Amino acid sequence: MRKIFLGPPGSGKGTAASRIAPKFNVPHISTGDLFRHNITEETQIGLEAKDYMKRGELVPDEIVIGMLKERIQEDDCQEGFILDGFPRTIPQAEQLAKLTDMDLVINMDVSDEIVIKRLSSRVTCENCGEIFNLVGLIPKNEGECDKCQGKLIRRPDDEPEVIQNRLNMYKEQTAPLINFYKNKNLVKDVTCTNINQTAEETVQSVLNAIENFTSEIKETLETPNNN
Ligand SMILES: [Zn+2]
Repeated sequence: MRKIFLGPPGSGKGTAASRIAPKFNVPHISTGDLFRHNITEETQIGLEAKDYMKRGELVPDEIVIGMLKERIQEDDCQEGFILDGFPRTIPQAEQLAKLTDMDLVINMDVSDEIVIKRLSSRVTCENCGEIFNLVGLIPKNEGECDKCQGKLIRRPDDEPEVIQNRLNMYKEQTAPLINFYKNKNLVKDVTCTNINQTAEETVQSVLNAIENFTSEIKETLETPNNN
């Protein structure tokens, strides 16, 4: 199974991917983790990526694709993977298609209002990257990561004035991807209109969408051809 979780920042795709991947025994691959790994290990590609990130710019496609290519060749990706936050653009999707076929794209469809509310209360573990917020994804102990007890901090790109900018960038660059994958009949929408929806509820809606998609594919294959 090779799946992509698409959605604006704050749509819950990262949380959904991290909880769903173990159910299918595949890794959850986020661009954030790829960057963290390459930057911590100070690989050449990591150092290049760091320069762009420091300037608040998007890391160029060839760098991200390079990291991803290495990652999906590892042993734990033999049965597939879930990509979170990648691809971001149509050129990236075209590059990805050269590396591997994907079998489903989950499109997390969440309103700006909900995204802004979630992101403006979002905190990230400075140690492991786990994300929390004060609407639906509250840490058990205030200021402390549930997973590793690391300190929770607000990332610079979750500051309110940066959020609208990220949303606009998402719409401009990533939203056309949905059409790109719709043309390949690979998209399932998961819509969230409830600001109080919990992470568990989001995970369940995504699991339902995966199940529906899989049974639709099966039906298509089993429907006798009437020609
Ligand atoms: Zn942590």
